[in-house]
Amino acid sequence: MSTNAQLFERAQRVIPGGVNSPVRAFRAVGGTPRFISRAQGPYIFDAEGKRYIDYIGSWGPMILGHGHPEVLDAVQKAALEGFSFGAPTEREIELAEEILKLVPSMEQVRLVSSGTEAAMSAIRLARGATGRHKLIKFEGCYHGHADALLVKAGSGLATFGNPTSAGVPPEVVQHTLVLEYNNVAELEEAFQRHGADLACVMIEPIAGNMNFVRASIPFMTRLRELCTQHGALLVFDEVMTGFRVALGSAQSLYAKAIPGFAPDMSVFGKVIGGGMPLAAFGGKRAVMEKLAPLGPVYQAGTLSGNPVATACGLATLKQIQKPGFFEALSASTRTLVDGLNAAAKAAGVPFVVDCEGGMFGFFFGAALPQNYPAVMATDKERFNRFFHAMLDRGVYLAPALYEAGFVSAAHTAADIAATVEAAREAFKA
Ligand code: PMP
Repeated sequence: MSTNAQLFERAQRVIPGGVNSPVRAFRAVGGTPRFISRAQGPYIFDAEGKRYIDYIGSWGPMILGHGHPEVLDAVQKAALEGFSFGAPTEREIELAEEILKLVPSMEQVRLVSSGTEAAMSAIRLARGATGRHKLIKFEGCYHGHADALLVKAGSGLATFGNPTSAGVPPEVVQHTLVLEYNNVAELEEAFQRHGADLACVMIEPIAGNMNFVRASIPFMTRLRELCTQHGALLVFDEVMTGFRVALGSAQSLYAKAIPGFAPDMSVFGKVIGGGMPLAAFGGKRAVMEKLAPLGPVYQAGTLSGNPVATACGLATLKQIQKPGFFEALSASTRTLVDGLNAAAKAAGVPFVVDCEGGMFGFFFGAALPQNYPAVMATDKERFNRFFHAMLDRGVYLAPALYEAGFVSAAHTAADIAATVEAAREAFKA
């Protein structure tokens, strides 16, 4: 049996940094990443046989926990029928119908294989449909690693963004404007300057890539008004929040708070694949029909709508629609964050929490951050020590303070209680 350390050393010889996605390397928190050998329900087990209560859930998809029997059954059946055909299947129609039923802002949807691909394609479509080039994104929101989206704020509103990655030429991001999240004044000014050239605004409605930060209702209200007024498409990136914060996704929460609210396009991933590579983007028929083969905007994929992935996604969506599913998931998540909060307060540690459905965030600070600079101003050292103290106690939290956490339907009251007890010890330590 190899140890995590041995595997990490071996991995680093053949895979850059030893990982196939950077955050897995524990760079932010330090230490040796755990190599996972298997998972069951709310638990993951590392190469050394140690069990952890899993609050990452593959970064969101595993809303039912690992190895849900009905999902497993659907995947096994589908695998026997064939892995991939490169031709249309009835299952793709079923999944599209299911998604559209749950997200009424969309009339058509196209299936792809990753959130990156979905967000990138949505932007191409928004540009193709409007005939405009410019787009707005917000600091701290992540929409995958397409070139035009790997951008940080420029030196002021008059300038467009700078690449956040080597290998992205400045010309490629020259049309991407990066604004501060929840800042209405900046938004107004950006639309005043660039409104007529804006193809779209892409936003994580609840940002899960700067831990957990909600777009405020006034901010979202004004964003919707400005997009409508200037003819820019409002694109909700619900890769993380989709079918995770509510059955109708984050947009259903904003629609409750803002009369008549709906985004123009939406991007999904994670939960709709139930752990298989599957993502989607969709919107109104008039926009979606601009896509190839009907329209001039090209987009394609060898494994798009993969029959095993769609079976996994369909089986997952079926479970989360059972009566009481989201009520129970929300209650578990609430019990967890309330417990963490009480444990921190008892230890005199400045700590704030928030959650929605099966997604949560916590910060070592005095107030919930409203934007990226405020997230970055929270106590990183404390977070890192807490992360390791929890890991030692068998609780696997996201290994970076700018990531959200996820609770699954498989987490029992006993799992949550054990987590809170571990936190009580960790806060004391
Ligand atoms: N958008 C959001 C909101 C995400 O959280 C992520 C991934 N965490 C992506 C897009 C990219 O998805 P993927 O990793 O599947 O490419």
